[in-house]
Amino acid sequence: MTSQRMVLYDADKKRARGERVVMAERFEVALNTPAGRLTTAIDVPTGFIPITAIVPVTRRLGEEAARLEVRHAIEAGQTISCRMGCAACCRMLVPLSAPEAFALREYVEQLPTDRRTHLLNRLSDTKDRLMREGLWDRLNDVAEASRPVPDEELDPINRSYYALRIPCPYLENEMCSIYEARPAACRELLVTSPAELCQDLVQNPVTPLPVSMRIGSILGLVWGTLTGSSPRFIPLPMALEWAERHEEESRRTWSGSSLLDQVLDNMWRFLSQEFQKR
Ligand code: SF4
Repeated sequence: MTSQRMVLYDADKKRARGERVVMAERFEVALNTPAGRLTTAIDVPTGFIPITAIVPVTRRLGEEAARLEVRHAIEAGQTISCRMGCAACCRMLVPLSAPEAFALREYVEQLPTDRRTHLLNRLSDTKDRLMREGLWDRLNDVAEASRPVPDEELDPINRSYYALRIPCPYLENEMCSIYEARPAACRELLVTSPAELCQDLVQNPVTPLPVSMRIGSILGLVWGTLTGSSPRFIPLPMALEWAERHEEESRRTWSGSSLLDQVLDNMWRFLSQEFQKR
């Protein structure tokens, strides 16, 4: 499925500038998806890296698979209704895997102080509202569950949350304020039904574009294998708090190539199931 060669990034220029030189391996990745063949190159550091270092690469593969789905849909005469400024789906409960929660915390921590404070205040307001509605503790139980939470337990929580129509704490002026760091689940929801139907995603017959690889689930499975734990469902409003509580775990490192192997192995399994379904 992959081939590789060594790459040294601008080593001489970086040494001259006194910067740290990062060795990386380039992997040529080829994956067959139901919407076509995905081929791309991925650079992964050769040394030991934390799980967060593999998150952007994994999301990129998911986005490339999604682009194939979009092209496939357009070729079949369908239209993607999602447009910038439409944030109807940003009132749903967004699940994150543990690696994504750690990556989001890293992202928020490197923001300028005023921006970070603003976001933390918004998260605090959302937490207050969820506590008043009696949902915060239920969400926390889901995030900390030591077993996979079955759909029959998640569905009522998802419905109660969506019924409140709380805008995502990262949504500002109907635009995502953490666009480059948004969770994989936010990147995967595209619809071909009319946009107005998204105003009520429970009552209306919305037609989502198929997703060949659920990146959040894949990262969750990788993390579960690495740590011997259950894949987690961490609700977005509490992701930073969860990541802070579990900070110790986020400091563990693994070789970059072994992390990529785990990611690709889980992608292959997802794609196999998707081929069977369609
Ligand atoms: S993170 Fe961004 S895209 Fe995702 S729900 Fe929040 S505002 Fe919307």
